[in-house]
Amino acid sequence: MFASDNTAPAHPAILAALTQANEGIAPSYGADTWTARAEALLREAFETDCAVLLVPTGTAANALALAALTPPWGAVITHRIAHIVVDEGGAPEFYTGGAKLLLVDGPSAKITPAALDAEAARYSRAVVHGAQPFAVSISQVTESGAVYAPAEIAALAGVCRARGLKLHMDGARFANALEAARCTPAEMSWKAGVDVLSFGATKNGALAAEAIVCFGGAGAEVMPHLRKRAGHLFSKHRYLAAQIAGYLEGGLWRDLARHANAKAAQLAGVLRDAGAETIHPVDANMIFARLAPAQAGALRAAGAAFHPSAVDGAGAYRFVCSWATTDAEIARAAQALSAA
Ligand SMILES: *Cc1c(COP(=O)(O)O)cnc(C)c1O
Repeated sequence: MFASDNTAPAHPAILAALTQANEGIAPSYGADTWTARAEALLREAFETDCAVLLVPTGTAANALALAALTPPWGAVITHRIAHIVVDEGGAPEFYTGGAKLLLVDGPSAKITPAALDAEAARYSRAVVHGAQPFAVSISQVTESGAVYAPAEIAALAGVCRARGLKLHMDGARFANALEAARCTPAEMSWKAGVDVLSFGATKNGALAAEAIVCFGGAGAEVMPHLRKRAGHLFSKHRYLAAQIAGYLEGGLWRDLARHANAKAAQLAGVLRDAGAETIHPVDANMIFARLAPAQAGALRAAGAAFHPSAVDGAGAYRFVCSWATTDAEIARAAQALSAA
């Protein structure tokens, strides 16, 4: 409990969708009705005629998205602790054919327009010696648990437009961010200037399914070929599609994210009541808190699992709540802390 949202099981409704999809024969490689349904639901949710490609992991979604937005001799500006930098084993560099990641700093793993502009200004198409920025990648929710407001995304997109860069959003926790920002999917993506979105589902109840969503045609022409070449075009595609359809149907994705965020707010309260300092804004379903060794030990003894934060100094830990986090788990944590 609390180690990550991908330690949670898959949601029963998504397993039920898979069972339903597991009936008879169906056309392969995405020509099936489940894929059409998943795409229609995404277009409805985003209120636009976006191109959609399903893949099984977030790393594949991010790396393929970036490969569509930058040539091998290009560069992607991103935050120093972004998932694409520290948690994807070089996949973005591999799939882009060697594009460089240019790293900027910013509070709570957010990129600021000023930092983005300053980094982009260091390179020019007229100077052959530097890597050429083609894209920017931001994480929503960020790796430190913060959520970009639509206006913050729009400000970054403004810099992107002025500098001729495409904007990619790593939305591994897009639903959690949406519930936090209380806006529409469109307002958090294409209306704010996002060109390509990695739309996560795995952490929030799916088994293994993510969607690459291309707005305004960005990357849409090359993406099918990049995905096939990368070995990520599933032949039994209905099983990816059924997960995404089940995830979106009836607003399940929003309900699950709302629950995860609410449990995180509750757990943050418990930690603060015990005197622990929360280090970053608890905007969505992740908490970063500094604990005394006795507190960390008591939580672990009570069955809690959580990782040290890699960037917030000694005694800082990350706690993540999911769609499956229960009140009993929060109560157990509270009990352990009050006894410590
Ligand atoms: C979990 C996560 C991903 C996806 O990771 P995979 O293990 O490849 O599915 C991408 N970005 C962020 C910010 C994440 O937290």
